[in-house]
Amino acid sequence: MKLYNTLTRQKENFIPLEEKKVKMYVCGPTVYDFIHIGNARPYVVFDTIRRYFEYKGYDVNYVQNFTDVDDKIIKRANDEGVEPSVIADRYIQEALKDAKALNVKEPTYAPRVTQEIKEIIEMIQTLIEQKNAYEVDGTVFFDTKSFKEYGKLSGKKLDELEIGSRIKLDEAKKNETDFVLWKPKKDGEIAWTSPWGEGRPGWHIECSVMAKKYLGEEIDIHAGGEDLIFPHHENEIAQSECCNHKPFAKYWLHNGFINIDNEKMSKSKGNFFTVRDIAKEVPYDVIRFFILCGHYRAPINFSREAMEASKKSLDRIKNCVNNINHLINNSKIENMTDEEKNLDVFKNIQTYKNTFEEEMDNDFNTSNAITCIFEIVRLINSVANDKSSKEFLQSLLNEIMSLCNVLGILYKTEQETLNISEEEIEELIAKRQEAKKNKDYKLADEIRDSLKERGIVLRDTSAGVVWSRE
Ligand code: AMP
Ligand code: ZN
Repeated sequence: MKLYNTLTRQKENFIPLEEKKVKMYVCGPTVYDFIHIGNARPYVVFDTIRRYFEYKGYDVNYVQNFTDVDDKIIKRANDEGVEPSVIADRYIQEALKDAKALNVKEPTYAPRVTQEIKEIIEMIQTLIEQKNAYEVDGTVFFDTKSFKEYGKLSGKKLDELEIGSRIKLDEAKKNETDFVLWKPKKDGEIAWTSPWGEGRPGWHIECSVMAKKYLGEEIDIHAGGEDLIFPHHENEIAQSECCNHKPFAKYWLHNGFINIDNEKMSKSKGNFFTVRDIAKEVPYDVIRFFILCGHYRAPINFSREAMEASKKSLDRIKNCVNNINHLINNSKIENMTDEEKNLDVFKNIQTYKNTFEEEMDNDFNTSNAITCIFEIVRLINSVANDKSSKEFLQSLLNEIMSLCNVLGILYKTEQETLNISEEEIEELIAKRQEAKKNKDYKLADEIRDSLKERGIVLRDTSAGVVWSRE
């Protein structure tokens, strides 16, 4: 298995620290609003990478944090006249709802900054004792010059950073590149007691602390969006490696941006669409599929047309699976026939399965892996019909579902479960067939129309009735 490591700027073989185990840390969102589709990208791509490791037999310890105290949360809390924890709790719940609807597996641990203050203070203390950090009037800074390897992730050199910096030197700082580990309390702001007075942690320290607490001093994979490479991940490396005297993460993985008109989607620019709003137009599974149609490191352009195209593509897979389910329910033959056994289809599917794995082994190329699934859909559509045996159809279904599950792309979305279940659809189709047999065409049409109203379209084909979601 090869993955692209931002730290070494090349694809490397994945060699875990412990056999068949993966310790993985993914930076989570700052919870002051609904997540937008750009934030959904790391959720979906690193969940897929996790699923692939699991498919390969690895035991994955997956940690993703919530930044539940920061300037933006405090500002929103002040605007609404509530405590910051009210804002954070609300948007953690909303982010969890979106993640679940996007079929993102729950992390092994999902820690929150405000619950890790003790450990944060301890790490800062260690850094001060070791002269990697210093305090000035209640603010603690990390001394970037104390870490010789500072800049190794982003490829930035300290001298260049200092010259390039347009920010006026903060009087308190020793070096322009030094960053805050602990900031003193401002009037009316939430704060915790510390050896440096009341205050709260800077942003970067939380991830070093949580990764250590939940995964250990050395981890396999650290991931997030590419905007986090500098300064966030660079600073995490400095903190962790100075504190623990060990290399921090072996592999650094970064997803590319979701752009609008070639500009990064972001809250501050206002050019964003929340996952929640997009989900009013297309189901959540389409959003997940849209994200996985591109390679995780490549930029993706968001547009409604692209989303519609993803919906159409995903429908091809869904329709194939719905059709097989329908055929299974109506097949009169239990066991695989000799004729079916002699077909090349399983051999051909195996060839595409091998290619699927090769593509995923090559830095998680989900885009090409999806192409393999389409090839399998084509194969299945060419052999499955109303004369097929249940066993044959079930085997085909198992093949395609095993690959769809790796990518997490076929699942019952919340909207679907709310609207109508597969069992209910099958029942209504059977009722309609019965009505037709009894020449009660009025009832047959009524059933078809009521299904249409609920977003289910029926087609009478030579292989029987096939249904799809609109
Ligand atoms: P934030 O809440 O801004 O810290 O972002 C949470 C996660 O979303 C981080 O991993 C970011 O790198 C990622 N992210 C933010 N905006 C985008 C975007 N437009 N495209 C892809 N990833 C993004
Ligand atoms: Zn982080």
